Amino acid sequence: MSPCKSLYALLALLSLPCLPHVAASSSRSQCSANAYVHHFNLNNISGIITSDGPIRQSQNFFSVPDAAVTLSYSFLFRSTSPIVWQQNILLIDLPNIGRVLVDTGLNARVPNPLFAGTGLLMRNLRAIHVSPDSIDVVLLTHGHPDHVAGLVDDDGNRVFRHATVYVGEIEHDFWTADPFINPSSRVPNATLENISGIYRRSLSAYEPDVVLVANATSPLPGVTFLLYPGHTPGHSVIQIDVGGDRKLMCVGDAWFSQPDQVRNPEWVRPVETDGLQGFQSRVALMRNLSNSADLVLAYHEEFPGLGHIVRSTSGFDWVAAVDRNHDVVRSQC
Ligand SMILES: [Zn+2]
Repeated sequence: MSPCKSLYALLALLSLPCLPHVAASSSRSQCSANAYVHHFNLNNISGIITSDGPIRQSQNFFSVPDAAVTLSYSFLFRSTSPIVWQQNILLIDLPNIGRVLVDTGLNARVPNPLFAGTGLLMRNLRAIHVSPDSIDVVLLTHGHPDHVAGLVDDDGNRVFRHATVYVGEIEHDFWTADPFINPSSRVPNATLENISGIYRRSLSAYEPDVVLVANATSPLPGVTFLLYPGHTPGHSVIQIDVGGDRKLMCVGDAWFSQPDQVRNPEWVRPVETDGLQGFQSRVALMRNLSNSADLVLAYHEEFPGLGHIVRSTSGFDWVAAVDRNHDVVRSQC
């Protein structure tokens, strides 16, 4: 199968767009929408949340009936037609490290209106005058396309030319195993092989500047990778120490969003390699977060995805950070 055909097949399964090669011919204006830019402060550090744009899911991919999903979303006045998940990306300048990006988005643009909102990271960085060449470090929570495909352009070249990429070693070993080994009884081998292909293409452009990180170690000052597997075998939560007693916790896809896997941590999506392990990781992580004042960045939560996990009568809940000083700026393109 050609790379594009296999990518389309994969993204159909993930309900994500394939795109890389049609963007230039799309007649859709790339400058018509506002950029996603949210400034925040935590302890003595300032950061920015931007986005690669929303993914719109036209189907229910959870392990429960449509009615259950619709009911949980409707409690929060959120639509399921479609379900909208953001791709919230952290940009932060850290002392002694440099300019850091956490995850990279899908880097995909498609004429299909359901996916028209994606592929916006570069435009959003341009809007705040951040050159991709100024990125020193990219930290990856895991190897799915909506987190790593933005590392490279349509020709497979580095987007962040001077960056070193850090990824958990279990995650990297899983997606790059040769021959590829599928430990999951849930996810078809073809799906995982396609994800593996995108991962290899995205990471190989950065060799030899790829650093594999062992669980619970800090490859950079104040940056710690914590293994919370299940969504993928080596899925990491990235803990960033910004001084003081509160940390910034980038939880990746440990859960998707409040109405689904925060309030219903037992819900599983087909692409998750180990449903039970993912559930156990989610609950353990939310328990830890609910006992702390740490600020959480939830990748697929409503923009900007900053908030806290709290206990509720039925389990856990999400409270968005009150400091909602969105600076919505016009694209400069
Ligand atoms: Zn994701």
